[in-house]
Amino acid sequence: MKKTFIIANWKCNPTTLKKTKTLFDSIKKQSNKTKKGNNEIVICPPLVYLPTINAKPTNIKLGAQNCYWEENGAFTGETSPLMLKDLKCKYVFVGHSERRKYFNETDEKINKKIEAIIKAKMIPILCVGETKEEKKQEKTQQILKTQLKIALKGVKLKNTKLCIAYEPVWALGTGKACNPDEAKKINLLIKKIITQLYNPSIAKKLPVLYGGSVNSKNANAFIKEACMDGLLIGGASLDAREFSKIISSI
Ligand code: PEP
Repeated sequence: MKKTFIIANWKCNPTTLKKTKTLFDSIKKQSNKTKKGNNEIVICPPLVYLPTINAKPTNIKLGAQNCYWEENGAFTGETSPLMLKDLKCKYVFVGHSERRKYFNETDEKINKKIEAIIKAKMIPILCVGETKEEKKQEKTQQILKTQLKIALKGVKLKNTKLCIAYEPVWALGTGKACNPDEAKKINLLIKKIITQLYNPSIAKKLPVLYGGSVNSKNANAFIKEACMDGLLIGGASLDAREFSKIISSI
């Protein structure tokens, strides 16, 4: 049975440990009730909360929103892949558009992070997507090609797991999700680019997820109509009831 990824990006929320524990416990309770199929539910909280939230005894997996590429050393303020692995993280985001925009995360840096995450035996979730302006100028194909080509330069994927999340920047936090027909075209385009960079068998196996204003009303269409392998959920994942509705809707 095909695995469906449901990945929560809490971004820089909640603001206290107490609120975080309440949210996580509520998601745990709800997800126990809505357990079905072969879903991989992943929660990506702010780093500071990772050691204190306890996913047991559920099947919920933990992920990080960012990491550095070095294992340790004089890199003030950074978190290494080894540290995340030690905190039982299974996944790490790379190239989220907010990190590209506000923290100068370039495709070259993303490439180093992907290599480091794979070396630490975790799974990178590579976020790609065009801005509103780039879409208007019909540059989506070119942008995705460049982002994937540089981010995956030299990355061996034969026996390695990696997820690609198509997150059109114009759809993030706007309430204006991508049309499922359009998302399906992008899904095929990403598979075509991966085929060109690697081969058809790797492209077939690589999960492609959609993120951008997903809610309980549109989630199903991205899985069933756009044939996505999963969803990346920002705003709606901060509401335990809405998040569990999304899980049970797909
Ligand atoms: C995101 O920023 O990764 C995201 C999916 O956000 P939202 O669901 O709020 O659009």
